Amino acid sequence: MNTPDVLNEHNLETRLRLERKELLKRVQMQLHCSDDPQQISIANHLADVGDWVIADLLGDADISMIEHELSALREIDAALKRIANGTYGVCTSCSSEIDPRRLSVQPAARLCVACKEAFEKRRGIVTHQTM
Ligand SMILES: [Zn+2]
Repeated sequence: MNTPDVLNEHNLETRLRLERKELLKRVQMQLHCSDDPQQISIANHLADVGDWVIADLLGDADISMIEHELSALREIDAALKRIANGTYGVCTSCSSEIDPRRLSVQPAARLCVACKEAFEKRRGIVTHQTM
């Protein structure tokens, strides 16, 4: 793949890892601030294993406050995996190359613009409106 310098995978990987670190910090802080001992133990456990995809194991704990962060983490982990196995920058839906400009704005993107729009239309999400 012929990617421009600013968008080389190394740079994007660095950005993804930084973003991941920030997200983890936020999630851990939120969990630690909780009064629920279950959530605090989850925070400790996740910090140990470092595998945040298992956040699904959170089970009955109320994780609504960190749901957004967790889903962002999953996207980032998936993107890092794609970098590792050489499929990064390729739309996971139609297999065409994702516009590098899109990746520079959203390094964890897994869909090309066309697929993303189709996906959002299906789900009835209108991103260009603020309400
Ligand atoms: Zn696509």
